Amino acid sequence: MIVVAGAGIAGLSLAYELCRRGVAVVVLESDTIASGASGVATSYLEPRLGHTAMRVIERESMLRWPGYAEHLEEVSGISVGFCREGQLKIALQDDLKKFHKDLKARADQNEAFELLTPQAAQALEPEISKNIAAAAFLPNVRWVTGKQVCQALANAVKSAGGQIRQGVSITAVEQTNPQLALSTNDGSMLDIEKLVLCTGMGAGAISGLPVDIPQSRAVRGVNLIVDQSGLANPLTHLIKHHRGHLCPRENGQLIVGTTYEADETSLQPGPDIIEFLYQNAAPILPKIRDLPLIKVTAGLRSKVGDGNLRLGRSQTAPKIYYSLSHGGAGYLRAPVVADELAEFVLHGTRGALTGHHTHG
Ligand SMILES: Cc1cc2nc3c(=O)[nH]c(=O)nc-3n(C[C@H](O)[C@H](O)[C@H](O)COP(=O)(O)OP(=O)(O)OC[C@H]3O[C@@H](n4cnc5c(N)ncnc54)[C@H](O)[C@@H]3O)c2cc1C
Repeated sequence: MIVVAGAGIAGLSLAYELCRRGVAVVVLESDTIASGASGVATSYLEPRLGHTAMRVIERESMLRWPGYAEHLEEVSGISVGFCREGQLKIALQDDLKKFHKDLKARADQNEAFELLTPQAAQALEPEISKNIAAAAFLPNVRWVTGKQVCQALANAVKSAGGQIRQGVSITAVEQTNPQLALSTNDGSMLDIEKLVLCTGMGAGAISGLPVDIPQSRAVRGVNLIVDQSGLANPLTHLIKHHRGHLCPRENGQLIVGTTYEADETSLQPGPDIIEFLYQNAAPILPKIRDLPLIKVTAGLRSKVGDGNLRLGRSQTAPKIYYSLSHGGAGYLRAPVVADELAEFVLHGTRGALTGHHTHG
């Protein structure tokens, strides 16, 4: 039996790939499905610019996402909220320099975009400010509803024969031969073949882990969720500007994001942070303060060292694997990462795309 620790996007997407390959999998989740960063992510799918190994994974993932979303909906019966309306990139006068630099980099990389006049952008999104200075349409940006993706994956895991146990926290790991012994908060002990840590910020609380398991640090992200259904023209595109983003959901909600607060771990953001998000959004969407605030959400992006993904196996405890440091791109990269990590866990083969970042 393989135990996957953590029912966020990293754990559930991996568990499903393992189940599809006929392996007995149990997911242990200390809280509930998507209770970590995965439950509060804006979850847009937009590869960053550049040619690093991470960018290669992201671009391949973008190609796989439409089929991945369709497959998940088919096997789970749950909509994952896959949206293809694209992104409207917007600049105010002060941001023009950065805006044109970004578009030049896109042009150099043959990334598709269409430069729009401010009037054309307003025709697409009538609620945005009349004061915008420039706009571009990025047709290939997508987004999903993260919680629904996780719920769909959880259903898919169960229907492929896997188990998900919520409210069960791994507290300690002991290497016994030939198995691994796990202790959990409910007092049970499990003898298992392999453990994959997909615990986001949680691995530090498990005792007995080898020292070569990477230690994550937190970058808090806070979003406001508002109800935009009362607007005459609710937003339909993902709107990005140099101070944040506005991402519409199918249910009339609008996500107003986001913060990047290194080493901040409180999930109760203060009024200053909420005000910061309103102030960033108001020059783009003047009616933002009139929209009913549904809730404020906060989550911890986990990063190790340089912030790049850490996929691998402990050198000293080779039955322990990890999928950590998903940073701000856990959804974007999931189709590739889960597929290649499943192969590594089962057969020890490094994937062509994630191989550079696979240790052990
Ligand atoms: C505000 C915000 C916006 C974001 N926007 C995007 C975006 O637009 N696109 C994108 O791709 N990504 C985005 N992200 C990043 C994305 O959310 C993360 O990369 C992703 O959710 C990480 O998934 P994970 O499964 O590694 O971690 P988590 O979702 O944190 O899951 C870890 C799970 O492990 C469980 N756990 C911890 N310890 C234990 C234990 N000892 N035993 C059992 N279970 C345990 C936790 O309860 C938790 O459920 C955003 C993040 C934030 C915070």
